Amino acid sequence: MEIPSRKVYEILKSKGVDHIYHANSVITSCQFLRRGALLSRGTIARSGLYQSAQKSDETDKKLGIWFDVFADSDDIHYRAKRANAYGSVLFVLDVELIAKAYTGKVWVTKLNPTKWNGKPHKERWFVSQKDLEDNFVRGRFDHMIVFRHCGGELPIKKHLKKIIVDDPRLASKPSKIDYYSMAYGALQLSMTEGQISAPIVKRKCPNGCTCQVEYSANLDRSKEMYAPKIY
Ligand SMILES: [Zn+2]
Repeated sequence: MEIPSRKVYEILKSKGVDHIYHANSVITSCQFLRRGALLSRGTIARSGLYQSAQKSDETDKKLGIWFDVFADSDDIHYRAKRANAYGSVLFVLDVELIAKAYTGKVWVTKLNPTKWNGKPHKERWFVSQKDLEDNFVRGRFDHMIVFRHCGGELPIKKHLKKIIVDDPRLASKPSKIDYYSMAYGALQLSMTEGQISAPIVKRKCPNGCTCQVEYSANLDRSKEMYAPKIY
């Protein structure tokens, strides 16, 4: 259920959450930067803009979360030592964004929506401030901050601290331009267009991170993450 945004902010802050995170592909991230906002999957689709496909798209529509904007309480790539399934670009936002959320209401999932099948409301969502205080754990993958009723558009201009981009050490064919440099250029241009500014930094992986292996093992997916269709 919805919890007043100020309370969500206070509880998360007390649990050591200073930043919230949103991962996506390069092309979708560029759409965000041009608009100066994170956009829900539904909002982008409705606008006729291109976005990379996500496995959860069909389920999200059925579950009524297609127009919601999701964020994590930690850098999943770093914590899990693997590539983030949602994309190679990570928006790092200061947690104040929650307190300032103009909808006034923020929801927090207790379970990732991909596991919601057959589960009651109280196992899907935190249901009260107390529930959140007692049971929210920073960095737990199931616990996601969800901005609902925000028209599918969450302004980030004042809260974007940096953008971390993975370097898969792969290059596009036939130009041989490496994916990281392509991503950097595209994101930088989109920031100029959206009049938004934040440093773009190359990801430093923790020891034992498997992302390089994952990027090399699935070249089609990597291409979609970095060099999606241009039209
Ligand atoms: Zn890595």
